[in-house]
Amino acid sequence: MSEYNTNGPVEVAVAPPISRDAQEKLRQNDFNVTVVAQDVEQLFSASPSIFRQTKKITDAFLELREVENFLDELVVKHPDQARVKQIGKTENGTPIHMMIIKSQISPAASLAGANNVSPVVFLDSGTHAREWLSVSTSLYAIQQLLEQPSSPARQVEWRIVPVVNPDGYAYSWNTNRLWRKNRKSGIGRCQGVDLNRNYDVNFEGIGSSRRPCSDIFRGPAAFSEPETRAVRDAFLEVRSEVKGYISLHSYSQVIMLPWSYQPDVHPNLKNMTDLGEGMAKAISKARGTKFDVFNTYKSFYPASGTSMDWVASLGVPHSLAIELQDKGHHGFLYPENKIRDAVTEVWKGIEFFAEEIARQSRQENFTQQ
Ligand SMILES: [Zn+2]
Repeated sequence: MSEYNTNGPVEVAVAPPISRDAQEKLRQNDFNVTVVAQDVEQLFSASPSIFRQTKKITDAFLELREVENFLDELVVKHPDQARVKQIGKTENGTPIHMMIIKSQISPAASLAGANNVSPVVFLDSGTHAREWLSVSTSLYAIQQLLEQPSSPARQVEWRIVPVVNPDGYAYSWNTNRLWRKNRKSGIGRCQGVDLNRNYDVNFEGIGSSRRPCSDIFRGPAAFSEPETRAVRDAFLEVRSEVKGYISLHSYSQVIMLPWSYQPDVHPNLKNMTDLGEGMAKAISKARGTKFDVFNTYKSFYPASGTSMDWVASLGVPHSLAIELQDKGHHGFLYPENKIRDAVTEVWKGIEFFAEEIARQSRQENFTQQ
């Protein structure tokens, strides 16, 4: 979610004494005005609870250190299934970690394929610091994968980076809850690069900014940031095996498909749309929550240098980004008492995605024989 949007909704927060005047002025200028929250301060206080006894990932957001502990504990519990790999370091020296989870293909299924290499699904979250729900969603996915080894999602190998932007994430916990970018310094009076404008695909193009103070500042060069380089290198290491990519963001409840930088139709768009709609259906089965499936450029907003487009440009058949719950009432300040519903329903979509990737890969292997 970014502020760059010429024809779509824009959210503005104003102080109570001028709220009525501001609404009046906007209406006079032909804006459709809806009040999504009467009291933003109250939403802030409902967001993370400082006093808590237990920290289950479905009941609370996790600080960076807690995320690391969570991953380490799972590896200790499932040493033959999972490992954590450091894929890079931020400018401040903070490690960036990736969880690798082996596939559980039955011998019969793997014999049916042309080779024994499992398809890989790459998933990342926490690219934008304030999008805490994205981190909870990927942690829940990791937990499900390891604790439900019979899940159809275990037919693929997983590479999951839960916090792409650890410095930004920590900053959103300790200083500015609504911080988006990384914490790059030395670029003038403002800090931070929007990591999701820093990938090498149409870099410098539409929907990105050259101004360091902008929330969509793309950085001085493609892959100028250690965080995007870490994701790039981890990805390229298994490039030929990666058949699916999901980047988790919040919020809007949409499944976004390439391209985001240009109106041209992606060669695999039909197949991607079918898969996206299958995911949306799987999500809605849980509690009726509706996710739309969009071509990003046409229906959402144009953006250049995004990870989704970069992965799609490498020929990976399925590359998408999910803007998680909700549609704006809580927005980035998603309440902790709703995490469980949110992560469990989206898990159903992720599971469907992996199952379908496995099926399509088997088919591809079969036709190549
Ligand atoms: Zn985002």
